[in-house]
Amino acid sequence: MKPAKIAISDGKSFDLRPTMPSVLNNSVVVFSTNYLPMARINIRRAVALLINGRAEPLDLQDTKLVWILRSPSVEIEVPHHIRLKTTTAERLWKLPSVSRRELLRRDGHHCQYCGSSRQLTIDHVIPRSKGGTHTWDNVAIACKTCNHKKGDKYLNETAMTLKTKPKAPMHPTVAFAEQFWQSRENRV
Ligand SMILES: [Zn+2]
Repeated sequence: MKPAKIAISDGKSFDLRPTMPSVLNNSVVVFSTNYLPMARINIRRAVALLINGRAEPLDLQDTKLVWILRSPSVEIEVPHHIRLKTTTAERLWKLPSVSRRELLRRDGHHCQYCGSSRQLTIDHVIPRSKGGTHTWDNVAIACKTCNHKKGDKYLNETAMTLKTKPKAPMHPTVAFAEQFWQSRENRV
């Protein structure tokens, strides 16, 4: 059985042997300092955060479950949920800039005016010539025909309507949090 190498912030590392090898395949949900579930992380990474004092066990009341890992000198109980003690800058998420690929994904590869999936282009809802910005809330996928039809006009000067209101992609943490709480609700 291979021990888990856990790095500690002072440059040292030590080995932990799980009671069962399969323990190392588990993951831990990490919460932000303000209790937002952020991501599922590898158990080794969770142990490192706990040992380095960057995270603490988080008890969600109904989950008293822990995984046990042992080294020659210590035994560590790894909870299924941990909470970060500090907010670190590298965890901050930056909104990606508008890209054709992301935009196509957001709009489901369909023209947001007529639903066509052919000859797709990027439409600026408020035309660029009228000060419209190249930002998530002002761009939509439009087929060549619709884009041409709309031309340089404001939307309310046309008979066209948008199927969805353009908005920025969801913060991955928010998406994860929604999914996390959903899965817990379904379990009860
Ligand atoms: Zn169209």
